[in-house]
Amino acid sequence: MQFFPIFLRSEGARIVVSGGGETALAKLRLLLKTRARIAVHAAEADPKILDWQAEGRLSWVARPVEAADLDGARLVYAATDDAAEDARVAGLARAAGVLFNIVDNREDSAFITPAMVDRDPVVVAIGTEGAAPVLARKIKAGLEAWLPAGLGARVRAANAFRPEAEALPQGRARRGFWAAVFDGALDGRAPEPLDRLLEAHKAARPAVGEVLFVGAGPGDPDDLTMRARRALDRADVVIHDRLVPAPILELARREAEIVEAGKTGFGPSTPQEEINRLIVGRAAEGLVVVRLKAGDPSVFGRLDEEIEACEAAGIAWSVVPGLTAASAAAASLGQSLTRRGRNSDLRVLTGHDVNGLADHDWATLARPGAVAAIYMGKRAARFLQGRLMMHGAEAATPVSVVENAGRPEERILAATLGTLATEIASTELTGPAVILLGLAPRAAARSLPLLQEAAR
Ligand code: SAH
Repeated sequence: MQFFPIFLRSEGARIVVSGGGETALAKLRLLLKTRARIAVHAAEADPKILDWQAEGRLSWVARPVEAADLDGARLVYAATDDAAEDARVAGLARAAGVLFNIVDNREDSAFITPAMVDRDPVVVAIGTEGAAPVLARKIKAGLEAWLPAGLGARVRAANAFRPEAEALPQGRARRGFWAAVFDGALDGRAPEPLDRLLEAHKAARPAVGEVLFVGAGPGDPDDLTMRARRALDRADVVIHDRLVPAPILELARREAEIVEAGKTGFGPSTPQEEINRLIVGRAAEGLVVVRLKAGDPSVFGRLDEEIEACEAAGIAWSVVPGLTAASAAAASLGQSLTRRGRNSDLRVLTGHDVNGLADHDWATLARPGAVAAIYMGKRAARFLQGRLMMHGAEAATPVSVVENAGRPEERILAATLGTLATEIASTELTGPAVILLGLAPRAAARSLPLLQEAAR
């Protein structure tokens, strides 16, 4: 973006226009829509400028701009059609630190004026940085046709009606009212009187909330499902795990309240009871609650406890599945999680459970060809290694650790069962990591630093 769009407060601002001919007139027609104090500098002025002066809408100064005229000015337009004179005025503006535009000379201007569609207070500015003026005109024409002439009046009336609308409870009910206010505003239907609409909404049944348990996938927004995207679009409240990264949270509806309810391994965490209460409480207020969990909500996500809390409170709920960390990790290794003749079952384990290091069916896991995806396993690596080898697993069994699977910072540590604990201990793994027992990265896998190191 070479030019950054902003909306400038015009009230109380002084805008200086240098020039009294056609070019200046075109700018003045736009500027007169604002509340700025406008000074036109020109030895000779078009009669229209004199009319506007007579109406008190601007002041005309019958001489060129001088340095002192720019003192405290907000904007300057150099619009004399005389390149040398425009450059002189631009130079004065630059020296005075005042933003200036040389009409029809984008290259030398400090700002440019966009094409506009004006439905005050709704104003759409269109810019192509001069790259496609014809396209800008087409977009403008399309918007002009799309936005009905009465739109501005409807928006002003709605804005004045805000205090009355506060009679509706905040959240869904109020949002539903505003949606109805503008319903049809864009397809030109005759608007319903606001007070009648409000009465109808006050009489409506109170909104019922619901809870959506949504899988956020491994962390890259591209790995969200369409259903998850839509859930984020609808959310009044998003209650998320610590593992859900910012780029995904940014996709939530702009007005959505975002609450972190952390439940990661060893850090400080919110008690489950409290999370349940939060989810149920917000839904009971009539809000759409998205309970956003890393990966898939049904994999080590304490989903059942939260569902049971909803059921106990009579709150409607549903589950939106997500891509679990093991899937992302296997994709990065270029391996399948099951393979004919090698493993016909796949185990999904946790390194830790409520009692600490988790116990498993070690004898089965120690068999040649066994594949397991181990979640929350970083700190359990030595224990896993010991148990498996005690049950006869080969020290040469491949084991891959995938940290930040599916994210830009992903790292793959290629180890064997024999080296697993020391490799993990000597590598600083700060992100979430999933351990894939029985799988080595395929040679063609992405060349990540750690992978190359391991291959040497
Ligand atoms: N529901 C999640 C798992 C939650 S348990 C899922 O389906 O993926 C938390 C554990 O998941 C972490 O300790 C780590 O082992 C694993 N994990 C989650 N996201 C990960 C990621 N992007 N990369 C590697 N492991 C991840």
